[in-house]
Amino acid sequence: MTNNMFFIANWKMFGDLKSVNSIKKVIKLSKNKKFNKAQIIYCPPYTLISNFVKLVKNSKIKIGAQNCHQSQNPGPFTGSINTELIKSSGANYVIIGHSENRATGDTNHIINLKIKAALKKNLKIIFCIGETLIQKKRNKTNSILKSQLTVGLKNIKNNNNIIFAYEPVWSIGTGIIPKTTNLEKQVIIIKKMLMKIWKSKDPKIIYGGSVNSKNISELKKITLIKGFLIGGASQNAKNFIDIIKKTIN
Ligand code: PEP
Repeated sequence: MTNNMFFIANWKMFGDLKSVNSIKKVIKLSKNKKFNKAQIIYCPPYTLISNFVKLVKNSKIKIGAQNCHQSQNPGPFTGSINTELIKSSGANYVIIGHSENRATGDTNHIINLKIKAALKKNLKIIFCIGETLIQKKRNKTNSILKSQLTVGLKNIKNNNNIIFAYEPVWSIGTGIIPKTTNLEKQVIIIKKMLMKIWKSKDPKIIYGGSVNSKNISELKKITLIKGFLIGGASQNAKNFIDIIKKTIN
């Protein structure tokens, strides 16, 4: 991975077969030299991955899954998808540790196993960390982030295949984003943590949480942030394109 700006679309449990075609405009934009530095990654629901893979074949857009099972081997896990299946569907990325999955049982330990399983299959990882509102109010943000990183990265050698997505849980889907100065300070702290915990000199840190075409001009001022994980606003091609255009101009 190079000095790209990441624009990662998390479609969550939205989108049907018809909506796949809506990304054609984004594919067109990705082929425009002006947006060479935009590394666009779509993470649709599992059921649409192979359709997305076919559609982006002749572009530099990459496809990711939104989660994976921690088992590296096939097994009796009804309804689950492991990294082997993700890789064979043609995806190259996987989101791990999203707060919506942490909320339904993904512990830091399970997340560590998932990251290991993804690395084993040469998948690149979008590793989400972030504090809840209660944790923030109790001044626990830094200790929460530290344990998410320490346990999540346990026994994983420093490598170039993990993107760290700082997503304050209180910002996801709420329309509320942190103040620029606070966010900048937080990203510096995360960078320092990663330098210490993971001996990482230049970790790729992106931001996620209510990013839209209005607040992007403010968010992009933080040069330490190397891209965005975008939920709601990524499901509409025009909004997603606006975000990319306003970031790279
Ligand atoms: C997300 O789900 O990772 C996310 C950032 O969502 P939203 O942009 O809708 O807040």
